[in-house]
Amino acid sequence: MPPEVIEAFCSAAREAVPLEELQAAASRCISRLTSTDAGLVTCGAAAGLTLGTAAILARDDLKRMEQLPDCSGFPSEFIIAREQRSGYDHAVRAAGASLVEVGFNEIVSNAGVRRTELWEYESAISSETAGIVFVQAADARPPLHDVVQLAHKHDLPVLVDAAGELPPRSNLTALTATGADLVVFSGGKAIRGPQSTGILCGRRDLISSAALQMLDMDDHDSLWQPPAELINRASVPGLPRHGLGRALKVSKEEIVALLTALQLFAAGAWDEQNAVCEEILDVVENSLRDVNVTCRRIPPASADRWPVLEIHLTAGTGSAMDVARALRSGRPPVYTGHARLHENVLVINPVSVNKDQADALAERLVDELRKAS
Ligand SMILES: *Cc1c(COP(=O)(O)O)cnc(C)c1O
Repeated sequence: MPPEVIEAFCSAAREAVPLEELQAAASRCISRLTSTDAGLVTCGAAAGLTLGTAAILARDDLKRMEQLPDCSGFPSEFIIAREQRSGYDHAVRAAGASLVEVGFNEIVSNAGVRRTELWEYESAISSETAGIVFVQAADARPPLHDVVQLAHKHDLPVLVDAAGELPPRSNLTALTATGADLVVFSGGKAIRGPQSTGILCGRRDLISSAALQMLDMDDHDSLWQPPAELINRASVPGLPRHGLGRALKVSKEEIVALLTALQLFAAGAWDEQNAVCEEILDVVENSLRDVNVTCRRIPPASADRWPVLEIHLTAGTGSAMDVARALRSGRPPVYTGHARLHENVLVINPVSVNKDQADALAERLVDELRKAS
């Protein structure tokens, strides 16, 4: 977290505030920076997916809120492309939704080259469909925009998992501009807020439902006066009890810190961070000059993503798996990317390293790679 974010976290710890007031202030800030009606700070993007699903399932129906995750009696299917499924869709199912898969994963199985197609989404829509869940990636197909058009033609909402899609900064507004009903971002990734924060933003009625299901509801009915911009009292007949999201509460410190980090990110702080990433990789790469490995700097996929460093081991320099294991167990522990170990490649991602940790990182790499060869 940048120093300003830590400072904001600490100053929030010294105050007491009604959380619905603080979330209403958060909603104003998020709505301004994402060009949406409203937003909530959640305890991570995965929690945002659970709350977003709960909002789509229950809307403003207090009985449904009380009943979740039991969805008997109302539509609860979410359509998802098979190629977009991952462990994160547990967060959608946790609210009570069931997933209906469409399409295939032919490119991974190497048995075809086609991606999921729009007609496949459309053919899965039935009276049991509650919405569509879409995992955003720059190369997602069909593009989010087309899926949103199709969903809206059938009066269905789209919930977008864009947890890791910042940077680019433009995605703060580009994804919601497709008309997507709810979008989720992680606050603990490149935004650099507290690790256990996230953002849920989009349609006001759905954010309101999510807020009702997350906030502490132990209030007196005749005293309860939630901020109208966050929760429209007139749209609900009474005060619901704690909802499904009560287990996903966010602290005032996390809310204030996340908003501070979000404002810094939206103002371009990431661009400076990227220069720091390059410097850290320079230190590592220079230290490895006399070690028998080949370094390859992979430039950011787009101007504002970040660079990584690949360290290619050769037959004489031992196994990347053994080096990765030794790096984790030594002091300070170093965690390398593990996706390419089978190709004998260690991947160094500088995003969670501070500049003053670069020398220690380089030293450990030099040590373990020398020992291995
Ligand atoms: C990281 C990630 C999440 C989870 O984000 P948290 O903020 O850690 O809860 C969900 N979906 C995708 C695609 C992610 O990359």
